[in-house]
Amino acid sequence: MDLDIPSLLVVNTLLQAVGGLCLLLAALSLPRQAGLAYWAASGFSQAAGLVVTNQSGWLPEWLALLSSHALIFAGYGLAYVGVVRFLGRPVHETWAALAVGALLAALFLWFTVGAPESRGRILVSSLFFAVLSLAMAWHLLRHAERDLCPAATVTAGIYMAWAILALVRAGWALVIDWEGTATEPQAMQALTRLVVICVTTTVTNGYLWMISRRLDSELMQQAREDPLTGVSNRRVIWAAGEMEVARALRHHRSLSLLMIDIDNFKAVNDRWGHGTGDALLVAVAETLTGELRRSDILARVGGEEFMALLPETGLEAGWAVAERVRKRVATVSLERPQGAVRCTVSIGIATLGADGHVWEDLVTAADQALYRAKDTGRNRTESVSVGASQPLAQNGWGQYGA
Ligand code: GH3
Ligand code: MG
Ligand code: MG
Repeated sequence: MDLDIPSLLVVNTLLQAVGGLCLLLAALSLPRQAGLAYWAASGFSQAAGLVVTNQSGWLPEWLALLSSHALIFAGYGLAYVGVVRFLGRPVHETWAALAVGALLAALFLWFTVGAPESRGRILVSSLFFAVLSLAMAWHLLRHAERDLCPAATVTAGIYMAWAILALVRAGWALVIDWEGTATEPQAMQALTRLVVICVTTTVTNGYLWMISRRLDSELMQQAREDPLTGVSNRRVIWAAGEMEVARALRHHRSLSLLMIDIDNFKAVNDRWGHGTGDALLVAVAETLTGELRRSDILARVGGEEFMALLPETGLEAGWAVAERVRKRVATVSLERPQGAVRCTVSIGIATLGADGHVWEDLVTAADQALYRAKDTGRNRTESVSVGASQPLAQNGWGQYGA
């Protein structure tokens, strides 16, 4: 196969520049996503380095070699910092690999102006690409959040494959017979160019794929989460409720639902302002989260209303949880210059079997119990007996917990 190296260089330059442009547009439209600007700068820096390589006739050879490699090496450094920033890691984690890179770049300088030698330059530049590519792969495999997979794994795989090929190139440079020629053999140059073209294309796609995975997961998170308190929203607990009811019925397990409403919250807003009201909601949500088990599901289902679904928990155990939660919330205090802001909650509890056999029954019963708690003075826990329990309760499960 007879490949024209200058043409391959032009293709590679264009791919780097276009990739850089795509990433620049992504960086501009997604300013909150760290790292993208570094990736864009990396593409432009490498494209500029390749332009210098291709137009090297204009410059003395040593200067062309130095400037083109400086730009390409800088491009790799920027890509690496971009990966680390995108993954939310501190930049100092890049220092070790960048220091090794700087050492190899200094050796490249030596093999260009100190003791000019192609073999030495190929050796150190290949090692440079291998070290930084492996460092990027390691970070992607080690630190990418689960939602970034498989994009992060594939991108890491590309970097690893490129690192292996760069090492093979370094080994090749060491063992081949240079026959007194000062330049790299054509076949090696062509193969390297082809590989770099593949790496450029796939890595740019890998970055864009990771960005889209990140955005997807943020969107999913927003769809599940209450933006003020960070606990789940109504949609999540409704879906979980239906599933947990089905699971509990199937395995004859108990299940309780707490409906928790802050007492006289309007008065808190009126007296302390909406901002303090919001802060109190956050504090109550944190308290509820802290008091419940990890397997329980807590959601904010209305302005100052929360629901907690307690799997494997019957009425007696659920009641104990409700009372513990209620007493704990009463100790929450936000300090303000004018005094301490406190609140209490009323809780309605419903239990599967005793209060119904479908999710909606449970919600209705917990709601009725909550009304009773409000009617009978607030800051208390109540349950109502809906009387739907007979067939299941006779099986001896459900009403009084595990
Ligand atoms: P009750 O004891 O009967 O539950 O009385 P309440 O005042 O808590 O209930 P009511 O339903 O009368 O008022 C609820 C208040 O919650 C009214 C509304 O302004 C407030 N609220 C709802 N959502 C938010 C929110 O996101 N932030 C703040 N600060 N207040 C909210
Ligand atoms: Mg209320
Ligand atoms: Mg309410």
